[in-house]
Amino acid sequence: MDCNSYDEKHARLIDMINEAERIVAFTGAGISTESGIPDFRSPNGLWSQMDPIMYDDFVASEETRLEDWRRRFIMNKDFAIAKPNEGHLALARLAQSGKLISTITQNIDGLHQKSGLSDEQVIEIHGNCTYGACLDCEEPVDLHWVERQIKATGATPRCSKCGGLIKAAIISFGQAMPQDKMHRAMQDAADCDLFIVLGSSLQVYPAANLPQIAKHHDAQLVIINRDPTPFDGLADLYIHGEIGTTMQGIGRP
Ligand code: NAD
Ligand code: ZN
Repeated sequence: MDCNSYDEKHARLIDMINEAERIVAFTGAGISTESGIPDFRSPNGLWSQMDPIMYDDFVASEETRLEDWRRRFIMNKDFAIAKPNEGHLALARLAQSGKLISTITQNIDGLHQKSGLSDEQVIEIHGNCTYGACLDCEEPVDLHWVERQIKATGATPRCSKCGGLIKAAIISFGQAMPQDKMHRAMQDAADCDLFIVLGSSLQVYPAANLPQIAKHHDAQLVIINRDPTPFDGLADLYIHGEIGTTMQGIGRP
């Protein structure tokens, strides 16, 4: 049974961060809800409103591709106006102080970079929604061009180099993970002395393997999430609370 109060756990979190030398953060959609971006699996999350689009369905059907782009352009408009919250800012301060070696994120909203982390400090294992790419030759494509083409023709455009399908550069369900980024994420998880999960239900694999890799290499594991996760029992500390309140002021000198 968990007898510790929130205040006791919060004090322990601060001690663990103070004592750590090489921290890795692992963030999910929950770190961005306080910036106004809904997550997937909370009761009011996106999956309560619509089904996810699978990669194979995107490839197979023009109708599905049009729906995928429709959702993408709506989401990108939300991302464009969203501002980093105290969770993102605390991580940026820890990076500034040299303690945070990287932030592995499942998010595609770009809020870690907006909070001051460099592209190099963020490992986006589910990709990035600010540009598109050809699924065959990987030629990058400007999303505004895609939006204009769909508006003008009613059809999704093809790659101007090879005729391949164009998709936003995010990893859809059923799509292969980027090997280089997963490799770096696994290496950092193995190299850190403190691994902090913030706002992930830890239900999506292989990303959810990362906390286990960290523990296996003797790092301390902290999970900060509103709802319980399957890995709370493995954690040295878990806090079921709001990320913004919990991270408020952390990393300030
Ligand atoms: P998830 O929706 O499965 O889980 C989010 C978790 O965050 C939930 O367990 C919830 O309890 C918790 N949470 C929500 N708000 C919180 C808060 N303020 N404080 C503390 N905890 C909070 O999300 P996931 O684990 O990231 O995995 C799903 C996929 O969702 C990822 O692949 C990601 O790419 C994608 N996604 C990204 C965004 C984004 O970029 N912001 C938004 C929606 C989904
Ligand atoms: Zn191409």
